[in-house]
Amino acid sequence: MLKPIDRKSRHEMNLIMDAGKIVAAVHMMLMDMLEPGMSTLDLDREAEAFIRKHGAIPTFKGLYGFPATLCTSVNEEVVHGIPKADKILVEGDVISVDCGVTYRGYIADTAVTLPVGKIDEDKQRLLEDTDGGLHAAIAKMVPGTPLDEVSGAIEDYAKARGYGLVVEYGGHGTGRKLHEEPFIFNYRRNVPTPELRPGNVLAIEPMYNLGGAEVETLDDQWTVVTKDRLPSAHFEHTVIVTEDGPVLATERVRD
Ligand code: MG
Ligand code: MG
Repeated sequence: MLKPIDRKSRHEMNLIMDAGKIVAAVHMMLMDMLEPGMSTLDLDREAEAFIRKHGAIPTFKGLYGFPATLCTSVNEEVVHGIPKADKILVEGDVISVDCGVTYRGYIADTAVTLPVGKIDEDKQRLLEDTDGGLHAAIAKMVPGTPLDEVSGAIEDYAKARGYGLVVEYGGHGTGRKLHEEPFIFNYRRNVPTPELRPGNVLAIEPMYNLGGAEVETLDDQWTVVTKDRLPSAHFEHTVIVTEDGPVLATERVRD
C-alpha cells in the first residue's frame, strides 16, 4: 500500500559518497574565501571551476532551466537565488549556498547558510538553530522510523524556538536524479508514511525564518523571499540510511 523508498546498492551509495565529498569540499572552499565585496557570481564561478576540475558536473546548471552552479540566497532570500555580478555581499549578510554535484552519474545535494564577516546575534542564532533542526531530523534517520517522524523533527525544532517554518519546499530522495521520490515535507502530517530502510538516500533541508513563515517568489520566477523580508536560513545534507544509523554523504570534513 505505502510505496517503499528506493534502496540504493552498495555501489550506488559509494558513488553518492564520492559526489558528496566533492560538494562538501566546494562548501569548505567557499567558506574560506567568502568576504565582503565578493559578488554571488564570484562564488558561482569558483564553485563551477572546482567541480569540473574534480571530474564532476554541477547538477543544477541547466536543470529546470536554472542558469548557475549554485543557488545563492542572501538575507531575506530563502532559496533559489540566482548568482549575479551586481549582487555584492556586505559585512553582516547571511548567504545560503545550495549546490549539487553529479559524479559518475550520481548526485549529492547540500546547502549551508554562511555569515559574511560579523553578523548580529539574531542571525547567528538563526543559523545555529536551522543547522540544529537539520541534525535533529538526521538523528531520527534509522531503519524502521516512519518518514513523517523525520519531517516532524524539523517542525518541532523550529516551533520550540519560535521560527517561521517554510512549508512550501522540502527534502527529497536523490541518486541518479536530483529530485527523486519521496518528497519530504518539513512538517508533520500525521499520515502513514514509509519506514526508512538501509540504502535509502534522502536530502533533508529545513528552511527557518527569523520572522513569519510566509514566502513569495520574485518576478525572476526563481528567487524565493520571506514576505516580511526578514532573514531566512537553509541547511541541507544528503543522508544515507544504514543499519548503523545515518551517514552524511555531504559531511564537511577538513583533512
Ligand atoms: Mg535538495
Ligand atoms: Mg540543495
